[in-house]
Amino acid sequence: MTEEKSLNFIEEIIEEDLRNGVHQKIKTRFPPEPNGYLHIGHAKSIVLNFGLAIKYGGTTNLRFDDTNPVTEDTEYVDSIKEDIQWLGYTWANEYYASDYFETLYDYAVSLINKGLAYVDDSSAEKIAAEKGTPTTPGQSNEYRNRSIEENLTLFKEMREGKYRDGEKVLRAKIDMAAPNMHMRDPVIYRIKHAHHHRTGDKWCIYPMYDFAHGQSDSIENITHSICTLEFIPHRPLYDWFIEKLEIFPSHQYEFARLNMTHTVMSKRRLMQLVNQGFVSGWDDPRMPTISGLRRKGYTPSSIRTFCDKIGVAKRDNLIDISLLEFCVREELNQTAPRVMAVLDPVKLIIDNYDPDKSEYLETESFPNQPEMVRKVSFSNTLWIEQSDFMEEPMKKWFRLAPGATVRLKSAYIIKCESFKKNADGQVTEIHATYLPESKSGADHSGMKVKGTIHWVDAKNAQSAEVRLYDRLFTSENPAIEENFLEHINPDSLVVKQAYIENGTAAKPGAHFQFVRTGYFCVDKDSGEKLIFNRTTTLKEGFKPKE
Ligand code: ATP
Ligand code: MG
Repeated sequence: MTEEKSLNFIEEIIEEDLRNGVHQKIKTRFPPEPNGYLHIGHAKSIVLNFGLAIKYGGTTNLRFDDTNPVTEDTEYVDSIKEDIQWLGYTWANEYYASDYFETLYDYAVSLINKGLAYVDDSSAEKIAAEKGTPTTPGQSNEYRNRSIEENLTLFKEMREGKYRDGEKVLRAKIDMAAPNMHMRDPVIYRIKHAHHHRTGDKWCIYPMYDFAHGQSDSIENITHSICTLEFIPHRPLYDWFIEKLEIFPSHQYEFARLNMTHTVMSKRRLMQLVNQGFVSGWDDPRMPTISGLRRKGYTPSSIRTFCDKIGVAKRDNLIDISLLEFCVREELNQTAPRVMAVLDPVKLIIDNYDPDKSEYLETESFPNQPEMVRKVSFSNTLWIEQSDFMEEPMKKWFRLAPGATVRLKSAYIIKCESFKKNADGQVTEIHATYLPESKSGADHSGMKVKGTIHWVDAKNAQSAEVRLYDRLFTSENPAIEENFLEHINPDSLVVKQAYIENGTAAKPGAHFQFVRTGYFCVDKDSGEKLIFNRTTTLKEGFKPKE
């Protein structure tokens, strides 16, 4: 039986538009501002925009919304492109809002010519004060009645650099008493003598978001311009410009932003974490950025699955980060080979095993796939986890303790005979005996043991740095805390000096399941010295409702 997935509300709109012949083909766009790295919220928007075009045989443009020269950088442009491609998507065209500066300028001139825009000499404060409040209408000022000719001259001079930053703005002439504040003669151009990462010093006036976004959609013949809910009040303005300029009628549709527990999502806040050194960079594995998730060991498909599972909502909500972890865990459980690694090592010596002997034992790299076996070396000296030994075992303790028996995974049954402690009371060495006839796969011992523990041959191990990541914030929703930086989890990174089976093919980016411990991925800085990042734990903290 195939799973029937019901349509989300945007799919419903698109299907109706296609049915009614409003559009023959759909066109969407993903419009990032290149002022930071992409995060999982952007992934939601990417999966939605590109996914719709793929589903309905349309195309998606990548458009950099680079109308703010001060905060933008080519470093961000490059990382954004890398992340989208990594997620598995290909854009039809790569565009920049700055490519449209000349056209946008002409649009502004045409508004002036229609008597629908004017140059205002007032300060930002005065303009804000005159805007009124949601309950009181705004007031118009003396500049509103400037003649078309004067406006044309002044706007041209603004472009030519005759004025200083903030000395004048161009405003749309709509309605100072409109109930929607965005319609009270919004500023559409401002003066900013700043170098732009693409247009250099060609321009000293820059269009505002509202005057660039919809028009860019229209220039590209975007049919469905999808954005987040906070733009609902901007929609009348979006439509007003298109109507007055008589350009291609793009339409804006809004869905809920993705918010996730135990993290922050805005680039501004993520930038603070980077700049103030709370994380090592934008791609720190604790960051909700796509590059951080990638470094942590997330796969593109696990992120796409997550975005599909959360759906397209019309109301803001907070998604449990465990759902994201669930998605990667489900996938890695199928794809990541098992290896043994010991993160908190203590030495185990098998007294009755020939100290000069070594043997190779077969173990499965995937459960129930007997053809996927590898050989691991075994000797009289092993590393095991400190947490697998208890000097005074509690009830139902099936692991190692004085006198207790346990199976070493894929090896033998051993019995703990004695142990040594140092002055601090820490167990430093455990001694055991093994049952030669209990070898896994050929067990004639007739013994049943309840516990199985993992191990690594101390005579043939690789040392590795293992980075255990936990949630970056202790607060469930740090974004609404007074100072989100005070809620950083002090234990969000714990570094272990571990041992792993020798011969593990640990190329950067490779995924493994460390038996009994979790899913790990080889860090990009891994080289001579192996470095692993924990992608997620083994335990399922979350089961989504089906
Ligand atoms: P931020 O506040 O993180 O800077 P933004 O919306 O300003 O986010 P943009 O680069 O302008 O970031 O966004 C590009 C696209 O991604 C926009 O269409 C935006 O609506 C969408 N987007 C950004 N954040 C989210 C989110 N959390 N959930 C869904 N879509 C998002
Ligand atoms: Mg933004």
